[in-house]
Amino acid sequence: MSSLHYKSIDNLFAIEVHESELNTMLHICSEAQGNETGGLLIGYYNDNHNCAIVTEVTGPSDDSASGKTWFYRGVCGLQKLLNTVWHRRRHYYLGEWHFHPEASPNLSGDDINAMNNIANSSKYNCPEPLLLIIGGNPELQWKVNVYVFPRKPKYITLKLAND
Ligand SMILES: [Zn+2]
Repeated sequence: MSSLHYKSIDNLFAIEVHESELNTMLHICSEAQGNETGGLLIGYYNDNHNCAIVTEVTGPSDDSASGKTWFYRGVCGLQKLLNTVWHRRRHYYLGEWHFHPEASPNLSGDDINAMNNIANSSKYNCPEPLLLIIGGNPELQWKVNVYVFPRKPKYITLKLAND
């Protein structure tokens, strides 16, 4: 598998995650030793504005906290990083990712609330944030779900569209 490509049934939303970013996330999941973890998805949209290309992912910032079934994604250092990638490459915040250890990559109610807050927050300036969830065991068997949160409706599930 070289990259993951997910899209919504109506083709209005899609995301492309390259193998290097996927491997980075799986590695961060392994290091979390059975706790949740996560970070930001950074990249850009294609010219048609219907596909997000993830070019960089971050791990948990120093002020993040987590347990077996919860993750608080802190903010420490992230704005500085986003400023740097914007000035260097014009890439920007696309959304969030996190890990559900030994569990399905399905959304929780907390996940939906957190993402709807981001979609509606002027601080993020991101009206359609993406959420990528890795579930399972990062070394043996894992599964990725991806969701997009337009301000309305609440969220849309993107389907794996690899050939
Ligand atoms: Zn979650």
